[in-house]
Amino acid sequence: MNPKIRPSTPDFRWDGVGVHPYKEDQLDAAGSPVFRAITRQTLFSEPALGCELRYFEMAAGGYSTLERHEHSHAVMIFRGHGKCLLGGEVRDVGPHDLITIPAWTWHQFRAEADAPLGFLCMVNAQRDKPQLPNAVELAAMQANPALAEFLAPLPNPPGTP
Ligand code: MN
Repeated sequence: MNPKIRPSTPDFRWDGVGVHPYKEDQLDAAGSPVFRAITRQTLFSEPALGCELRYFEMAAGGYSTLERHEHSHAVMIFRGHGKCLLGGEVRDVGPHDLITIPAWTWHQFRAEADAPLGFLCMVNAQRDKPQLPNAVELAAMQANPALAEFLAPLPNPPGTP
């Protein structure tokens, strides 16, 4: 096989590209898994490029991590439908939509309950580690009506039913 040419295979896979499911054992400030039903495939990661192109896919009802970081993302929706939280807004997204995620902007993708959501994501090869919201930051986002419906509900405070 010529590794410079890697054919696609059915179901949004590629020859020679590993599919990496994320373990759902990291909890957010509200006690929910930080992501759900998501896989990552790194399509391009050559040092000469300086950037990587990854393909992320969430099964129906899945979501990516709500996070922010110094590095930016360039995203193109590839399949399915869902919603994207970007800063203070939530938008419906579908195939071939383009999303620029600037530095230090909270972002999260969620697949619809009945459809997967797959997107291509270009990112610097050298990049900082994402930050997750703390309880105060999460509560502030929950208090924004534009985001409240999108974000998973906060659990009841300790001691309440
Ligand atoms: Mn990110």
